[in-house]
Amino acid sequence: MDELIGKVAIITGSSRGIGAGIAKLFASEGAKVIVSSRDASNYQPILNQIKSKKGEAYCIECDVSKEDDVKMLMEQTIKKYGTVDILVNNAGVFEQASVEEMKTETWKKVLHTDLDGVFFCTKYVTNYMKKNKTGGRIINISSVAGLFGFGGSAAYCAAKFAVVGFTKATAIDLCKYGITVNAICPGLIETDMTKGFTNDKKTMEAFMQPLLVKRAGLPEDIAKGALYLASEGTSYVTGTTLVIDGGWTGHL
Ligand code: NDP
Repeated sequence: MDELIGKVAIITGSSRGIGAGIAKLFASEGAKVIVSSRDASNYQPILNQIKSKKGEAYCIECDVSKEDDVKMLMEQTIKKYGTVDILVNNAGVFEQASVEEMKTETWKKVLHTDLDGVFFCTKYVTNYMKKNKTGGRIINISSVAGLFGFGGSAAYCAAKFAVVGFTKATAIDLCKYGITVNAICPGLIETDMTKGFTNDKKTMEAFMQPLLVKRAGLPEDIAKGALYLASEGTSYVTGTTLVIDGGWTGHL
């Protein structure tokens, strides 16, 4: 239960869904967790859950698509805890639209959040992380949509494929500081983002067919993968992609 004792972890987009699952698991493993998203009014439930189990967490509002917000997120983290050991680039948005109908605003919103946000957070956390004697851990939440094409998802796929490439390239750049950089590609996970799919019986029946594990994933399934990549024992794992999808894409 003490895998991350004393470590400081920033998890972007952690007011709910997968990010909240990661924040809770990391706090239960002894990390000091920065809970962050665009809207601070959403933080109380996750804070209460962490604190009720004697975990340590602090909230900082940050829109990852805004460079100045991200600089401030890093500065405030250092002010509060003095260091940062783990960054999980989790904040993301999904917008469905066929490419010929996609509004430019939709394209920009997805790319700014799901890709620019990963760049900004990685760039500015590195300034602090590289000073650590024990290096650091950066975990980027991509998607199975970063490995395969999905209809109506051109912006999302473009961003998530790019995150996989960004992960491999930054792993090379940052290995000299002892920082590992890895991606997780979740399948369909039950969160607010996917309730349009998971609440629809017919869609779910079709979705279940190619799955080897016949259920939608839960935030905890992804959190366990993130914990593995955040642990001290995984210093030999970098530039790679961990697919957690119930066996959905392994046989495609
Ligand atoms: P949710 O919609 O449930 O949660 C998204 C989180 O990101 C919220 O905390 C939201 O908070 C925050 N957020 C959104 N935009 C921004 C922004 N610009 N800056 C900071 N925070 C932001 O999504 P999930 O938990 O499902 O998804 C988390 C990640 O996992 C995303 O990157 C997603 O693409 C990826 N993923 C999800 C899958 C799934 O099936 N659910 C599958 C594969 C990948 P707020 O609104 O307060 O900003």
